[in-house]
Amino acid sequence: MQQIMYKSTRNSDLRVTASQAILQGLAPDGGLFVPEVLPGWDGDIDILPEQSYKQTAYQVMRLLLTDYTEDELKSCIDKAYDSKFDDPRLVPLVHKGDAYYMELFHGKTIAFKDMALSILPHLMTTAAEKNHIDDEIVILTATSGDTGKAAMAGFSDVPGTKIIVFYPKDGVSHVQELQMRTQRGDNVHVVGIDGNFDEAQTGVKKIFQDAAMAERMKKNHMRFSSANSINIGRLVPQIVYYFHAYGQMAAQGAIKPGEEINVTVPTGNFGNILAAYYAKQMGLPIRKLICASNENKVLVDFFQTGAYDKNRTFKVTTSPSMDILVSSNLERLIYRIAGDNGESTAKMMNALSSQGVYRITDAMYAQLSDFYGNYADEKQTAEEIAQVQRETGYVIDTHTAVASKVYRNYVIESGDETPTVIASTASPYKFANVVVSSIYPSLSDKSDLEMIDILNKISGVRIPQAIEDIRSAKLLHSTFIKGADMEKEVADWLKLD
Ligand SMILES: *Cc1c(COP(=O)(O)O)cnc(C)c1O
Repeated sequence: MQQIMYKSTRNSDLRVTASQAILQGLAPDGGLFVPEVLPGWDGDIDILPEQSYKQTAYQVMRLLLTDYTEDELKSCIDKAYDSKFDDPRLVPLVHKGDAYYMELFHGKTIAFKDMALSILPHLMTTAAEKNHIDDEIVILTATSGDTGKAAMAGFSDVPGTKIIVFYPKDGVSHVQELQMRTQRGDNVHVVGIDGNFDEAQTGVKKIFQDAAMAERMKKNHMRFSSANSINIGRLVPQIVYYFHAYGQMAAQGAIKPGEEINVTVPTGNFGNILAAYYAKQMGLPIRKLICASNENKVLVDFFQTGAYDKNRTFKVTTSPSMDILVSSNLERLIYRIAGDNGESTAKMMNALSSQGVYRITDAMYAQLSDFYGNYADEKQTAEEIAQVQRETGYVIDTHTAVASKVYRNYVIESGDETPTVIASTASPYKFANVVVSSIYPSLSDKSDLEMIDILNKISGVRIPQAIEDIRSAKLLHSTFIKGADMEKEVADWLKLD
């Protein structure tokens, strides 16, 4: 099998193995690790529909994480995808109306981040062993709401690791905040900052690149890594579910094996849809990649004009996990369409951080024809939740609703009737308040806990354990700081010399 090495998007000379890329998180030059080539998928498309999620996971991940042994990879997969998931199928594909909803929210924290973050801690501790690293691994994470909880659930009490999560204290839903602030585990630290997600993410990246801090960490026998989707160990497990969903489409008779599908992805940091793009590049028959944004529609403008411009007002919406103006993973797409050119990618990313804007070349723009970008505003999102419920009885969350609405518009605009998978990224219980008020505006004055019981009646779906947990759990974390003090907070909590 072909050995796959990883390069930084900002310096093509740097080459590391998959396990080293996972350990480091971010490349030392501030770039993201990308596979040197995307290997072709070598499975049999006719038997994909019969394969279990775990079988497909091994088949896909072995192609990209080539320095892990078969035993190591299978053991990581077994530990990740077990009874933590509340559905034995792990990722059910639900046919409602004209679309197929790929439910990625059956893990511990009821959002799609669980798909990758249940396995990342195992990939990382295995990587540390393989590379004879004795330092304690400190995971730094910025979250727009869902990553933080899913990362803590994955790393909580994992020996040899600590995890610090930064979230925008006014930028997450009530349930998301409670989920994080009730997290148990001696090795976890949760910090609210008075800034938005982009500030949290920039702050984390800054700490990663601070040479003096790295030196201090080394003296204390610690090293940083990342659980954000800038870590390639997050992205690889996300490629898996597109293969799995494709198999399920065939199993349900929506397509014959070999025929094309479209995918629609509610997008923030561009990780989930990039995984779909990688799946396509590896040979999965995907036609269009439909990129759905909320009112923070910087990506829509990018796909329309070829200019990425973050100079605009940041909006707090009802789909907070997509409230992002700097979509980190777009850098991996830019690198690819620039012909794997680290130098020109670095130039554009530097322009983004100094001027807040960059423009791609016409030759690069021409390679974006697989993508379609559009957005749904707040009113349309609420209407979509109500319409899907009214027409099919199925209840979707706010993020999934953004995708569902954008898909509806895409079909009207294009007439494209290719069977389509919509990535359903969170349980509606996580946003019960907005979901219920969208369906029954007259109930919008009820409390969050009442909303959960009402949602249970409307949807007939059992209340997930993650919601039961926060109803009874104690608040354990109350640290709030200014965005500028993130580095100091890290040093203090780690008790660095
Ligand atoms: C993180 C998240 C998204 C956005 O995914 P990206 O990979 O950041 O584009 C969408 N929906 C939900 C519920 C999320 O948690």
